[in-house]
Amino acid sequence: MFTGLKLCCLSNLLSSGASVAWCGAHVWGVETDRTSHMMYRLIDENHPRYDAELASRHGDAILKTYRRMDEIIGKVVSRLAPEDVLFVLSDHGFHSWRRGFNVNSWLVENGFMALKGGAKHTDRKFLQDVDWSRTKAYALGVGSIYLNVKGREGKGIVGPGKEYGRVVRDLADKLREVVDPATGQRVVDEVYIAEETWSGERIAEAQDLQVGLAPGYRVSSATPLGGAPKGLFEDNMKKWSGDHATSQTAITEGILFSNRSIAEKKVSILDLAPTILGLLDVPIPGGYDGKSLTIGAPRAASGNDAGAM
Ligand SMILES: [Zn+2]
Repeated sequence: MFTGLKLCCLSNLLSSGASVAWCGAHVWGVETDRTSHMMYRLIDENHPRYDAELASRHGDAILKTYRRMDEIIGKVVSRLAPEDVLFVLSDHGFHSWRRGFNVNSWLVENGFMALKGGAKHTDRKFLQDVDWSRTKAYALGVGSIYLNVKGREGKGIVGPGKEYGRVVRDLADKLREVVDPATGQRVVDEVYIAEETWSGERIAEAQDLQVGLAPGYRVSSATPLGGAPKGLFEDNMKKWSGDHATSQTAITEGILFSNRSIAEKKVSILDLAPTILGLLDVPIPGGYDGKSLTIGAPRAASGNDAGAM
């Protein structure tokens, strides 16, 4: 049996002592992610919602969640046969989200977006007040920026080809210079440009640019919904106080642990699917971007190997 399970279900199954003939199990646990999103404000004293009294009571919530995960993984390890292979993978790291960046408001201020009647900001979301006849770019989704391209967007004004490339470069250059006046900090660590970042037949559906923000920053709550509120930055006063969705990927790495050695020093999440198929003796279909990793033989002694994703 190859199955997909939530981590808590696996824990219950193991506690029940049931015997299952598995060839593989994909088990996922979202608890570490959700707890970190909500409780980061209690481990970051510089977060605007840090509360010392609350932190004294619940500041260990994230740590406790990881310890619970360790217990469950420990149970799994104790039930493994010598030939079994275990991978523990997280797909991203985490950062504190102290300040929100209003990307659409920045686009307006820098002449890439125009609002109806020449307004500088709006309380309405979903790009309802955008004057598309004078707008070159708009932000929608978590850190995504799209150009208003002729023939693609309904009221596009940016010509494909040379003009598209010029606007993308101009936008990326200006974004990299953004500084938060309240902290004096540079806000945009990296700008991922679609044609330099992704490949494949569905690249036309990708955002044209994606921002990778510095630690402490995320796009504001209004930005994914196409809002352009007053001001470029705001303190994040939400309980949702940690994030990873608009962070620079190079400093937001996940972790891979295994009970086997892995020869490659640098591995990617994309490598896991072909590696697992290889271990199960299933032919790897064409079109996979990842490579099959070199997994060592079972070892008598216990111990884990870790690699940075
Ligand atoms: Zn998350």
